[in-house]
Amino acid sequence: NRRIVLNSRPHGAPKSDNFRLEETELPELTQGNLLLRTVYLSLDPYMRGRMSDKPSYAAPVSIGEVMVGGTVCQVEQSMHPDYQEGDWVLANSGWQEYALSDGTGLMPLGRDLEHPSRSLGVLGMPGFTAYMGLLDIGQPAEGETVVVAAATGAVGSVVGQIAKLKGCRVVAVAGGPEKCKAGVETFGFDECLDHYASDFAQQLTTACPQGIDVYFESVGGKVFDAVLPLLNTKARIPICGMIAHYNDTGLPEGPDRLPMLMQTFLIKRIKAQGFIIFDDYGPRYDEFLSEMKPWVEQGKVKFMEDVVDGLENAPTAFMGLLDGKNFGKLVVKVAS
Ligand code: NDP
Repeated sequence: NRRIVLNSRPHGAPKSDNFRLEETELPELTQGNLLLRTVYLSLDPYMRGRMSDKPSYAAPVSIGEVMVGGTVCQVEQSMHPDYQEGDWVLANSGWQEYALSDGTGLMPLGRDLEHPSRSLGVLGMPGFTAYMGLLDIGQPAEGETVVVAAATGAVGSVVGQIAKLKGCRVVAVAGGPEKCKAGVETFGFDECLDHYASDFAQQLTTACPQGIDVYFESVGGKVFDAVLPLLNTKARIPICGMIAHYNDTGLPEGPDRLPMLMQTFLIKRIKAQGFIIFDDYGPRYDEFLSEMKPWVEQGKVKFMEDVVDGLENAPTAFMGLLDGKNFGKLVVKVAS
């Protein structure tokens, strides 16, 4: 059984020596438990937070402990009354090939699962995040302008497409010409702007002649800098993530712009609300699935996956995720 543990805590961007690949004995099955074999492991930005021991909404991974992560697994052996060998489950078994479970927190996915990896992306946590954050907090209305960053990623691509289904003008932001092309051609966004362009803020102003009604915040940094002056009165900002800052080791240099930010919020009566998907919306997962499944099956919501082969490649792929190297939902194929 191979597994990847946290070897040390990163200072700034994670490096390979923050991770350690270990070989352990297969855990022994006992009554009431099941042995899970990981088929796909999800890699997500929140894992950067778990590598740090700063206070947060979830406990950090301890040094020497297996890295946390959502997985799609098959039951290899079962001594649990509710599961049989061969069943598919959505689990949180982390960066390892096998794990023991007593069934707590597992979500059954049936015996014939045609597309296992989708349960980690468009039909899983990131899709759920997009759906609730946009619809419940963003409240997009027909004809409004929605701006979404990291727009070809797991969350952003779904946000932008739901906004299109609701009749909004979608101005997407992504890193580089290839991703921007996919934003328009694959996901159907009205425009997709490259945040690496030197005149990005000017491009955003031109692309939003009616201002911005909803900004789905996943990034922070200079994308938010460009968005702020364009926000309309009564704009909504679901605060989903701040990936441009996850590796920060201190506050940025420069003048204190907090008063300017708060005054903008006051004068324009802007509503900005953070959310943590399962903590805030857990009981509404079925509602999400019942709407998203048909959208995906009917091709109304498209998705892209970036599949990396082999558990040993998870650290490099994860480091790349924080740097925009993934193209679509990042998953690791741990076993066939
Ligand atoms: P993605 O698949 O979108 O991958 C991350 C992307 O972020 C990169 O590909 C890159 O896209 C972009 N990015 C990275 N650094 C920067 C930067 N400095 N400036 C601009 N863009 C950057 O990841 P997810 O869809 O899984 O997650 C998106 C966001 O949603 C994250 O902030 C994550 O933490 C958050 N999230 C929050 C949840 C919640 O419950 N609140 C749940 C799930 C996710 P590009 O190359 O296009 O710039």
